[in-house]
Amino acid sequence: MKKRDNSNLIRIQADRSLNREHSTPIYLTSSFTFENAEQGRALFSEEVEGNIYSRFSNPNNSELVNKVVSLENAEDGFAFASGMAAVFGGFAALLKTGDHVLASRALFGSSHQILTQILPKWGITSTYVDANFPESWEKEISKRTKMIFVETPSNPGLDIVDLEFVSFLAKKYNLILHVDNTFATPVLQKPIDFGAHLVSHSATKYIDGQGRTVGGIVVGRKDLLKEIRFFARQTGPALSPFNSWVLSKSLETLSIRIEKHCANAFELAQALEKNTELLSVKYPFLPSHPQFDLAKKQMRLGGGVISIIVKGGGNRAKHFIDSIKMASLTANLGDTRTIVTHPAFTTHSKLSEEERELVGISPGLIRISVGLEDINDISEDIYQALERSKTQRI
Ligand code: PLP
Repeated sequence: MKKRDNSNLIRIQADRSLNREHSTPIYLTSSFTFENAEQGRALFSEEVEGNIYSRFSNPNNSELVNKVVSLENAEDGFAFASGMAAVFGGFAALLKTGDHVLASRALFGSSHQILTQILPKWGITSTYVDANFPESWEKEISKRTKMIFVETPSNPGLDIVDLEFVSFLAKKYNLILHVDNTFATPVLQKPIDFGAHLVSHSATKYIDGQGRTVGGIVVGRKDLLKEIRFFARQTGPALSPFNSWVLSKSLETLSIRIEKHCANAFELAQALEKNTELLSVKYPFLPSHPQFDLAKKQMRLGGGVISIIVKGGGNRAKHFIDSIKMASLTANLGDTRTIVTHPAFTTHSKLSEEERELVGISPGLIRISVGLEDINDISEDIYQALERSKTQRI
């Protein structure tokens, strides 16, 4: 019987042990035993499938991977120790000296650092293009271009990349399309259905959803995952079985959490649009978002993140953050707890001022990761902080 996503998130499970447990136990073991010399040989030569060593695979990691593979309509996957290890694994396993990456400019800070500071050390170059001007992308593709890397919606500017269009480009030029789907999660958007070949996640965000673990995952086409698995098996960025267990348990509630995050965020975004202390409110499902139609086309709901720009610039933004009473001041997102972050001074502080400006991260921009608390308490907190920081406007 073919099950639907919400059942698969709960019912995909590691094989039961002889103890007949209901919930999957944590396999805290570094290696797995061989029944005899011949089985060890066959496992190592990959004539038979099975666990050998937890750097390669583990029942907890496989359970997590199988769930995300199913949800993203992928063929295979690998769980990494962090979202960045996953993004980097996708680059390192598939690119070589001389290759070129076409990337949407609005990327998470560390992805930007990998493209601009780390990959060039091995002769891998990249060119940035703007999600708002898709017509400018094709002319940047050269014979050396091997991969398109995009993040949609982007962190923290909430730019939307047209997945149907980039899939068309990837197909036309035979490129690998790699999509960071952290913000949307497969509950809202399935890039592979549009033609993506690889999808990566910071599982630290909505997949965990409770701010407990760091983790990452890449899923996608079987032949690409073969290369990624080889890279990971030799270089060792695997996720720990404990963290896989936590993340797999979290996936059981992903869908209902995401729907509530989206409902709270939409309500708050609509209310904030009327606030005169803000220069702008950006949320994918607000008609005022410049790519509203595109967001509606490729996302089921608008997501859990809102970005606002307060009047008064960086100074006011700092006072706004200092006036917050309930929300958490931290660099994470996708948590049950509402989080306010000041990207220009924290997550994206390694970018130059010019680089931040190009992706719309002004000093007054605040990212609100809307949590699952009562929406009235979330709103009251944001309003009182806007009010209290009013006097600090410069
Ligand atoms: N991709 C996106 C869109 C992110 O927002 C983040 C973290 O904020 C990452 C990747 C990196 O993930 P991690 O912190 O799990 O390494």
